[in-house]
This record gives sequence, C-alpha cells and structure tokens, in this order.
Amino acid sequence: MDLKKRFEKFKESEFELNKDFYSELKDEQKPHTLFIGCSDSRVNAETLFGAKTGEIFQIRNVANIVPSKDKADENYAVVSALEYAVKILKVKNIIVGGHSNCGGCAAIRKFAEYKNTLPYTTEWISQSVFISDYVDSKYPNMKEEDKLVLLEKFNAIGQLNNLMTYDFVKEKVEAGEINLQACYYDIGTGDIVLYDYEGVSFDRNEDNI
Ligand SMILES: [Zn+2]
Repeated sequence: MDLKKRFEKFKESEFELNKDFYSELKDEQKPHTLFIGCSDSRVNAETLFGAKTGEIFQIRNVANIVPSKDKADENYAVVSALEYAVKILKVKNIIVGGHSNCGGCAAIRKFAEYKNTLPYTTEWISQSVFISDYVDSKYPNMKEEDKLVLLEKFNAIGQLNNLMTYDFVKEKVEAGEINLQACYYDIGTGDIVLYDYEGVSFDRNEDNI
C-alpha cells in the first residue's frame, strides 16, 4: 500500500472539495464526544456514529481500558487525553466502545498463556482480569465463546466505573453536564447496543446487557 499516494489523493479530492469545512477546523476543535475505543482497525468511531472530522475526540488502546485513578500515575497517555477532553474541550458525551472478536479481551481470557510472549500487553490488560474472573464466577457453566462476548460487554461497561474515580469526570456526570455511556459493536451484524451508566457497583447480569 502506498500511503503517500493516499495522502496526495486526500489533498486533491477530499480536501479540495471541502475547503470551507477544513478551513473552519483550522483554528480550533469542538468535539462533542470523547470516544474511548479499542485499537482494533475495524472499530471506527466516525463511521459508527456518522460523524465528521472534528466531532469525536478519541482515546484508543488495547481492549478500550481506562485506568482507574489509583493507577493514573502509570498511565499518563490515557489520563491526559481524558483530562483535556473534559476540562478544556468540555465534551458533552463520554462513550466507551467495546466490540466483538476483541483480541485484547481474548488475551484477558488467556492471560497466563500470553504473559511471557506479550509482557507489555498482559501488564496493560491485567487491569480488566477481575472482570473476566467475575464472568467465570457468575457463569461457571457458560461456553467459553459466550464468556468472551460477555467479557467484551462487561469490560466496556466496567470502564465507566473507572472513569467515575476521577473527580473531574464524576462532578460533571452528576451535574448532568456529561452523558456517560458504554456501547458494544457487533462487527459481523452491525448491531450497536448502548448502555447507560448505572452506578459504581459492578453487578450486571446477562439479562441486562
Ligand atoms: Zn478490541
């Protein structure tokens, strides 16, 4: 693939045809939404939400994880973007996006197996191992493939609790200034389910997700 040719094509067609639009973006951004999604190449927030450039501020990482406040000092990349989106850009929505066939969540399910080959990844995803354990304890007889789907959903929802550990997020959510949600995107069917934030206790079951 020739990336240079793609850049040239962008300038010649997309940019030239929409010069006024890009000119408006030149001096500032005013995104209404912070999307926290997986790095997976199949999850594209602009496509999913029908959004244009400038509408969605994004944090992408393996398995769409938000470190809780007690781990913030080891994870400035995520927390600085969160802080900027909330305090400076004043986004109205924060949405954490989980998705089907998530390699990061699959690695959480096989944590011990990957520990030696993917030391950085397993260190990162270790933050969500407790959610995988929760699925095992709540649904001991469930098939592994179904457990993975539940983990993908619970993992997205669980990040809302982590977001609420930051006072600057919590205050705005409680004041109704930020709408806090998770979503789950099924890549194969195109279905997207939205989940509202329901409080910090993590006690979801299969029936309400
Ligand atoms: Zn993923």
